[in-house]
Amino acid sequence: EQDPRIQGIAASIRVVPDFPKKGIMFQDITTLLLDPKAFKNTVDLFVERYSGKNISVVAGIEARGFIFGPPIALAIGAKFVPLRKPRKLPGEVISEKYVLEYGTDCLEMHVGAIQPCDRALVVDDLVATGGTLRAAMNLLERAGAEVVECACVIELPELKGRERLNGKPLYVLMESR
Ligand code: AMP
Repeated sequence: EQDPRIQGIAASIRVVPDFPKKGIMFQDITTLLLDPKAFKNTVDLFVERYSGKNISVVAGIEARGFIFGPPIALAIGAKFVPLRKPRKLPGEVISEKYVLEYGTDCLEMHVGAIQPCDRALVVDDLVATGGTLRAAMNLLERAGAEVVECACVIELPELKGRERLNGKPLYVLMESR
């Protein structure tokens, strides 16, 4: 049984064919943000799932994990840790490289942001191949945190990103193609 709020959220997301390059169906969540009810329902669905689960840190992935992560963190009483692209964070960092369709990318995290007792939720807008979530999980686990779950608004199931998460649970509000 799907929550009735999910249909309105799905309808608010704009799909842009061939962006940023040919063959990609870009899932544009900026139109979701223009619909206050859809935005609130999105945050509420995650907050309802993660309240009372003893999550101490929400780790958001640059850039769209910075939109959904902080309101979830505030509502469940967790700290927010940004996982950033290289050379953005001024303090001491640990880095994880990951493979993209063409070339590699990298995420960084401040080492002092995580305590070994932390229980983490990783947040991003979308999971495609799972490489980005995997890099985020690696950063948190290297710092000693326990990754409880990864949460995204959208999953592209054809790319099988779920299988790259080392058996960690992935929760998504909807699937897209
Ligand atoms: P991946 O590492 O392959 O799972 O890719 C996930 C990351 O790339 C997320 O940060 C997404 O925001 C972005 N991304 C990948 N594919 C799409 C898509 N079709 N539409 C929007 N964002 C995407």
